[in-house]
Amino acid sequence: MTGRKFFVGGNWKMNGDKKSLGELIKTMNAAKLNADTDVVCGAPTIYLDFVRSKLDAKIGVAAQNCYKVAKGAFTGETSPAMILDCGVKWVILGHSERRHVFGESDELIGQKVAHALECGLGVIACIGEKLDEREAGITEKVVYAQTKVIADNVKDWSKVVLAYEPVWAIGTGKTASPQQAQDVHDKLRQWMKANVSEAVASSVRIIYGGSVTGGTCKELASQKDVDGFLVGGAALKPEIVDIINAKA
Ligand code: PGA
Repeated sequence: MTGRKFFVGGNWKMNGDKKSLGELIKTMNAAKLNADTDVVCGAPTIYLDFVRSKLDAKIGVAAQNCYKVAKGAFTGETSPAMILDCGVKWVILGHSERRHVFGESDELIGQKVAHALECGLGVIACIGEKLDEREAGITEKVVYAQTKVIADNVKDWSKVVLAYEPVWAIGTGKTASPQQAQDVHDKLRQWMKANVSEAVASSVRIIYGGSVTGGTCKELASQKDVDGFLVGGAALKPEIVDIINAKA
């Protein structure tokens, strides 16, 4: 027993509409979900209020992004205060699509992490190497550098979940093997021990993301340092229930 509560986040990305998300929510509300697992659904910003109002209270909701300041002339952005005002308690930050499609820098991600936590949101902070980086043998260097920027901006680790998502596994159908995931999670925990504290290293949840499915989740979940998942494609399907119950 690690003492770390299993955590499954769904990342719906820019998918769905009120009809299809409403159906998914009905399925999730009716399903028998393992009470020993924290469940959070990452909804598109425009549907946060809708999703929060329909989803059972035992299931959390996350925004998929937020800005680094409270308010002002930032057209198109959303503040943590607005997210909290919709009853939403989590935000996903540093996702690889934010980093690589929208060009978010480590620095900006760090500032967002700091502000979101200060405002009281929980943060699912994402890191992960690209294929060329893995092939060049620099996976550790990349994920340590990304984790350092996050760590430099965290005071209270109880509100942070670290999501290791190798970019080559996201949306590709190419899941990391249980051993590949375990190796990186173990190294991240060692990094936390050396650079943050032993207590944080043993209590922080490190979840895996990248083509997790109902078929791959159980073996991944059995790895010692895999404390849950961040799920994209499969989170839009009823199989998310099997993934939530991977530990059951
Ligand atoms: P995927 O996405 O499960 O579709 O690979 C994971 C993610 O981007 O968080």
